[in-house]
Amino acid sequence: MNRETYAYSKTLMGTCVELILHESNDAVAEIVFKALQQLEDKLTVNQSNSEIMAINLAAGLNPVVVSSPVFALIEQAKKASLIKGSCFNLAIEPLVKLWKIGFNGKSVPSLDEIEQKRILTDPNLIHLNSDEQSVFLEKKGMGIDLGAIAKGYMADMVKLILQQHGIDNALINLGGNILAVGQSNCVEQYWRVGLKKPFATNDEIVGILKVKNKSVVTSGIYERYFEQNGRVYHHILNPLTGYPLDKEFISVSIISASSLEGDIYSTILYGKGLYESIDVLSKRSDLGAIFITRNNQIKLINVDDKTFELSDKTYQLKLN
Ligand code: AMP
Ligand code: MG
Repeated sequence: MNRETYAYSKTLMGTCVELILHESNDAVAEIVFKALQQLEDKLTVNQSNSEIMAINLAAGLNPVVVSSPVFALIEQAKKASLIKGSCFNLAIEPLVKLWKIGFNGKSVPSLDEIEQKRILTDPNLIHLNSDEQSVFLEKKGMGIDLGAIAKGYMADMVKLILQQHGIDNALINLGGNILAVGQSNCVEQYWRVGLKKPFATNDEIVGILKVKNKSVVTSGIYERYFEQNGRVYHHILNPLTGYPLDKEFISVSIISASSLEGDIYSTILYGKGLYESIDVLSKRSDLGAIFITRNNQIKLINVDDKTFELSDKTYQLKLN
């Protein structure tokens, strides 16, 4: 068996995208990076000429016709936003832009500013017309942000591209959003995925996940944040209050077949807190979850201790 791995990487979406193959295939890597770049250009809210920005700039004015992948993704994001009790909200953009967390935001906005933006985040005011493939935001100042779902969608897309090119085994890493396609060529056949140590400044990990054909997506408060008066203000916002969500855990990693679903659930479960999440997961044995709590516990739900190996003994493993 060929034990070599070939790593390809490129900076996209403001992060390091890595593709690991078991064969040298520059052509496929180029196709993958090009497809990701094209999708990023359509979805970004950091450049004024993307399809998402066209929708946002036409808020309160007119519907905008978009390409099929963008329409499909917005449809999925709206569906996730309308799940009862879901903190996921694709209309969160006015608050994301106000806080600017991860984009030079360093201070808490005023209550008044937060409230003015919060009232513009009702997902029911995003109107989708599937015949025209158009999107209309009812009020001026509204905006769509797909930051909580886009990487999951992109990882699944990369898997499809690889399979179309006859590659059934690979690892895709979109800045920590990981999709193991098929199996690894090492003896045990699992891909080994490091789980990042929260707030560590280097590449430290708390343990290793062994996965085949699974996505591993993490939502964590240490990914983008600022501190003010000793408090951490992070990037996952509560649409009900306009402030960052405040929960008893630091991160949740979802292990799932679809990376899109993993990305949606990592955000939703972050918003639910530990006990409600455990309840949700009791009805979803197909979704595994790893929670890192504020008191250094690592709680595994629908994941066994053969799948996750703890390596940092300052953490305590709790099985469900
Ligand atoms: P994730 O790391 O997948 O949980 O996504 C976090 C990103 O999604 C943030 O950086 C924002 O761009 C966006 N976001 C923040 N709060 C929410 C929310 N409540 N619902 C959906 N997207 C959000
Ligand atoms: Mg997410």
